Amino acid sequence: MAHADNLARIDVLAREHTLPGEDYLALLTTADEEDDRYLASQALMIKQRVYGNRVFIRGLIEISNFCRNDCYYCGIRASNRACERYRLEEEDILLCCQEGYALGFRTFVLQGGEDGYFTDARLLPLVSEIKTRYPDCAVTLSLGERTRESYAALRRAGADRYLLRHETANPEHYRMLHPDRLSPENRMACLDVLRELGYQVGAGFMVGSPYQTAQMLVGELQFIEAFAPDMCGIGPFIPHKDTPFAAFAPGSVEMTCRLLSCIRLIHPSVLLPATTALGTLAQNGRERGILHGANVVMPNLSPADVRNKYMLYDNKISQGAESAQALDTLRTRLAAIGCEIACDRGDIKKDEE
Ligand code: SAM
Repeated sequence: MAHADNLARIDVLAREHTLPGEDYLALLTTADEEDDRYLASQALMIKQRVYGNRVFIRGLIEISNFCRNDCYYCGIRASNRACERYRLEEEDILLCCQEGYALGFRTFVLQGGEDGYFTDARLLPLVSEIKTRYPDCAVTLSLGERTRESYAALRRAGADRYLLRHETANPEHYRMLHPDRLSPENRMACLDVLRELGYQVGAGFMVGSPYQTAQMLVGELQFIEAFAPDMCGIGPFIPHKDTPFAAFAPGSVEMTCRLLSCIRLIHPSVLLPATTALGTLAQNGRERGILHGANVVMPNLSPADVRNKYMLYDNKISQGAESAQALDTLRTRLAAIGCEIACDRGDIKKDEE
């Protein structure tokens, strides 16, 4: 009976792009393998309709692992004395873009901890230089919480997109994952400001983060419905040995894939990455994500000598198909699941919903 009910729920979600909370809860908690296969097939069909079999690539440049924050889950949190810190110079970042451009990347993602070195005075000329040198490329920033003035200035300098996972839509849960200095209200306010300023905005959350319940996952889907982010980064929580959450179990690959499919059905045109965390937890995690509705991958374009220092969680991968230099490997692996790499900016198709 549960099975027939779930198939009916998936049909409703595919048709109406929403479900009542109790149906999300039932689907997330009782789906069996066959339900998951059907859910994935519906998500794939809708992705195919909007984006075809193309997978967008983003060159990820991890510009600094210095961070003023102390998120309990994160390996680069300020209190982790075992983390060997680094930051890239502006010149290094431009060299990464140069290499990435030659490899075929048309989006550069500058991500980092909240590092006081990267003031507006340093970032603004850097962003405008990248946009001047590569006018056909999109610049995505993922540098955490900044002021409205800073986001506005960065947007004027040419930044196109901003990734800021909301982490959890439940304020009490947010406080269990972060020290008091960080507030769920400010995180959400930042997302609103970014949207107002005309960025393509990415939200997202970890699957299986400590204290997360199935009901909270329903809340995540409802938040995604309401906020309608242009991009949505979700990946399993993976513990890092030098954090307060070292002893927690990792999130589930199956649940992450189920949620990817739900999010694709909620917002057919959302840009949905198959995340590094998913690829870290399962050998074929990237492919499984794509087969459940993801359509973006973000190979690592950071200089080789810093890659293993941006350790957000244990065993984070940065080699093989995860490396920007190994695009051919990625191409082959994507071809094996019927997909091809798209070498353009890969903006969201706004008119499709
Ligand atoms: N500082 C920026 C920010 O706050 O958005 C960007 C960098 S932050 C390290 C990027 C993302 O990594 C976070 O939004 C979080 O969801 C994810 N992350 C951190 N620790 C993780 C862990 N242990 N497992 C899975 N994902 C993690």
